Formats: sequence, C-alpha cells, structure tokens
Amino acid sequence: MFEFCPSCGKKDIVPAGPKELYCNSCSFSYFHNVAAAVVAILELDGKVLLIRRAKDPGKGKLDLPGGFVDPKENAEEAIKREVREELNVDLESVNYIGSSPNIYEYKGVTYQTCDVFFYAPINAPPTDSDKREVAELLLMEPAEIPLDELAFVSTRTVLSRFVAARADHRRQ
Ligand SMILES: [Zn+2]
Repeated sequence: MFEFCPSCGKKDIVPAGPKELYCNSCSFSYFHNVAAAVVAILELDGKVLLIRRAKDPGKGKLDLPGGFVDPKENAEEAIKREVREELNVDLESVNYIGSSPNIYEYKGVTYQTCDVFFYAPINAPPTDSDKREVAELLLMEPAEIPLDELAFVSTRTVLSRFVAARADHRRQ
C-alpha cells in the first residue's frame, strides 16, 4: 500500500502481520485496521429496496444503501445519515440484524471492513436519491433478488439469510 515510509520517507517499509506496516529505518508502524461500515435492508410492502451502484467499486452492480462510519459516530447514527444522504429518507428507528466482514477496493487500496446491518421498514419509495451514488432504485421480492449480481460478499451473506428467513416465515 505504501512504498515509502510516511514518517521518514525511506523505502524501507514492510508488512508485519495482517494489518501492520513497519519501517525498518525509523520503527514507524502503521496499522491498517478494519473499518466499520453500515448497511440497510429497507423494506416496503414486503419488498427490499436495492440500489444499482453509480460508481466503483462495483459500478453497475446491485447493492444496499450504506457506507463507512464517520469518526465519533455510532453505527445507528451512521446508517441514518447514509440513508438520508443517499436516498433523502429519514429513518426513525433501525434494528440491528447482524454483521459480516467485507473487502472494499478503492483507488488501489484494499480496505477490510466489518459491515453492520440494520433493518428498517419505509413508508414510500424514495424519490430524491443521490445520482452520484445511485444509478437506479429497485424494489424486489426477497426471493427474486439476484444474489450473484450484488457488489459485495457481505451483502450477499446477510441478504441470503434475510431471504431464507422471509421464506420460512411465509411457509408457517
Ligand atoms: Zn520510517
């Protein structure tokens, strides 16, 4: 990720474990820690709201609304902010449903994330989404979501559990 030490500028920085880079010249350590991210499963009349990504990574693929947690923000605040920014929808309450690791490649840097998933019902389809992030909005029956068209493995993992739970619910 770095070729030169960000502290002393020498070309002597080496990996030292799964998330540490270490400089043999000045002993500088950089920890590329796991980043917290948040994701929302929004449901309207039994359908799940998906977005088609307008930018990389995963441009053109399906995704759920979400993003990275900001400094000094909790996960609930983060998902409400992301949904407001992306979809112009205010969520009153969100329910934690699980988490899943993910890999996010951005401008040549690999970010390992821990994605925190929330569920929230919405009352109407969003009408004012951020076109820089969202190319298309789709409302889909859980069973009809094409899981292999999702941009990220974490979303595939948690959505497939959600779809299975909804299917069980219908059988009862
Ligand atoms: Zn150094």
